Amino acid sequence: MLNLILFGPPGSGKGTQAAKLIEKYNLLHISTGDLFRAEIGNGTALGLEAKSYMNKGALVPDSVTVNMLKSKMEQHPEIQGVIFDGFPRTIPQAQALDEMLTSKGTSVTILLSLVVDDEEIIERIIKRGITSGRSDDTDPVIIQNRINTYKSQTTPVAEYYAQFGKTKVVKGVGSIDEIFENLCSEIDAVLV
Ligand code: ADP
Repeated sequence: MLNLILFGPPGSGKGTQAAKLIEKYNLLHISTGDLFRAEIGNGTALGLEAKSYMNKGALVPDSVTVNMLKSKMEQHPEIQGVIFDGFPRTIPQAQALDEMLTSKGTSVTILLSLVVDDEEIIERIIKRGITSGRSDDTDPVIIQNRINTYKSQTTPVAEYYAQFGKTKVVKGVGSIDEIFENLCSEIDAVLV
């Protein structure tokens, strides 16, 4: 199985690149942000809980997130590989993912970390907010909270996988195709 973590700050282009990667490598795309937004859209209890954190730019608690991810994986036992987009975002989530994959006889293949500076990120998110309708994309205070949360709670995940030589850093600025090519080169290097 090819298990790929697409990593990077909010607005770094994970969703855009994931859409291209799933086609090329025939993978299941699991975006925890999209799953939460679907729960919110369906008005579920899980959605209601998630919304209270997302609206502040905070993370949804690990137990809630991990359980949702587990049930998503269980719905697709036949899959050949997964792109995890927006997950894991904390060390406990990374440990839970490792356990889950180990129980399936597999593991994380690679973590691809998209690097984009803060100024560019803020500009991109505000631009996205105009069309996305995402309330967390319009308020500068919430955007800054998301960036702070990423730095304090999420960047350790890249360091965690770096211990095992699995973290690869890719420049997240440039054309979409250029970034895609760079991501593919890193993936192809671990596939051989
Ligand atoms: P972005 O990468 O642009 O921040 P996402 O759609 O990945 O957008 O996430 C939106 C929000 O959903 C996050 O700010 C957070 O509140 C919540 N969320 C998404 N994934 C996770 C996760 N793995 N753990 C906790 N909260 C999450």
